[in-house]
Amino acid sequence: MGLPRTSRNTVPNESWRGRDLAKLPAVPHPVMKLYKSFGFEAAHYLPNVPIGHKCGRIHGHSFRCEIEVTGPVDPATGWVMDFADIKKAFRPLEEALDHRFLNEDVPDLPNPTSEEICKWIWDRLKPSLPLLTGVILHETCTARSEYRG
Ligand SMILES: [Zn+2]
Repeated sequence: MGLPRTSRNTVPNESWRGRDLAKLPAVPHPVMKLYKSFGFEAAHYLPNVPIGHKCGRIHGHSFRCEIEVTGPVDPATGWVMDFADIKKAFRPLEEALDHRFLNEDVPDLPNPTSEEICKWIWDRLKPSLPLLTGVILHETCTARSEYRG
């Protein structure tokens, strides 16, 4: 026994092409967002801040990174994708960032602001995670940046 199939939980197909859009169901294919969080500890300083700015001194953060993926829910599996596959895709980046001095240990990240770290993660994650739609990086409990490609 299961839920009756309705147009709300089916996947769109080619037969919908050319049809009157007004006659289509309001939600022809449910789109879902998944979020998976990762933490990493790292040190950095910001080389381009004004002299005397506290971020110009070496310091550390317990960064928290949220990876957002967006896609249709597969009616067979009931999920967009396996969370474990997000974890697998992020693993090399975690290895590259965790317990590192970002300015010196991480290639192509000489000015590791939150914004630059977000983009760095996006650029390296998108090829292995095509459904990626956002990288949200929490530098502290109250400060975060978000990159959407
Ligand atoms: Zn900092």
